[in-house]
Amino acid sequence: MGDETEAREVETVLVSACLLGRHCRYDGHAQLDEPLARDLEAQGVEILGFCPEEEGGLSTPRPPASIGGEGAPGVLDGTEHVLTDAGANVTSAFRAGAEAALAACRAHGVQRAFLKERSPSCGVASTHVEGACVSGRGVTAELLVRAGLEVEGVEGRRNAR
Ligand code: SF4
Repeated sequence: MGDETEAREVETVLVSACLLGRHCRYDGHAQLDEPLARDLEAQGVEILGFCPEEEGGLSTPRPPASIGGEGAPGVLDGTEHVLTDAGANVTSAFRAGAEAALAACRAHGVQRAFLKERSPSCGVASTHVEGACVSGRGVTAELLVRAGLEVEGVEGRRNAR
């Protein structure tokens, strides 16, 4: 009694690992985004870096992949595939990565995710469908939105100034 500690909940947010500088992109590069890192530091949040494609079992580097014409909703509903440029079916790895991302969010109480635009996994406003960059979400972004999380797309590779 009388020994009250101030319990302040620190929010944890999920961030595409490549935006944090991890070399997990399909081409083995990173997409470090300095303004995002600065913003999150200012917010005082805990950062959970996560790469759905690696967590889904794909190696780095790996062949680029693209979602079929139904887009990410079709992949999650089991009616569409994700294929590499050479035609290899990587649908199960993309779905496993998305499910692992959602499980990580639930385990850490994450409500907000900052995801790399244009990725077939992480894209929020744009993603790769049938080999082209189009409006729509990647597979992980789609699943997180379905689960009620707030997702924000980040361009990547922006410098602080
Ligand atoms: Fe991994 Fe997503 Fe970054 Fe692609 S965009 S490298 S899946 S974290």
